[in-house]
Amino acid sequence: MPWPEISIPSPNHAVTPPHERIGVCFHHTVIPFGETLALMQTTASRVSYHVVISTDGTRARLVADHHVAWHAGVSSFKGRNAANAFLLGIAFAGDTRKDPLTASQIASALEWMGPRWSKYRWTLEWITDHRQVAPNRKDDLKPDEWARLLQAIRSHFV
Ligand SMILES: [Zn+2]
Repeated sequence: MPWPEISIPSPNHAVTPPHERIGVCFHHTVIPFGETLALMQTTASRVSYHVVISTDGTRARLVADHHVAWHAGVSSFKGRNAANAFLLGIAFAGDTRKDPLTASQIASALEWMGPRWSKYRWTLEWITDHRQVAPNRKDDLKPDEWARLLQAIRSHFV
């Protein structure tokens, strides 16, 4: 059964050049789902994700895959700077340093990734998180939760 997905477009994105969609960067939002969506409607925040997943598994789509969301900031992955250009941003509502991801969040993320995994020819090595693309600056996800998520992705897709 599909998880509910709502569309709440955020103005905080760039249309050109088109997003390269080589992989995914996971985040947690720290603040709750509703507050996150509200923040991303304000242009002053200059922040967005492609999708945010509530603790109950509900997804909110904010930015189209082919547009650049503003989630990673100063970042580097596989020797290349500015991950926003090539990694889609997906965020879990909440703070993984305090509370583990819910089973619904992980299942909903896998469902969101499903059609994209084949369409964009993703591989495990192009799936990462904010902590790894912005080391010493960002701490999402908590390492234990990242390991748990990566294992779920591996089991599902590889
Ligand atoms: Zn982040």
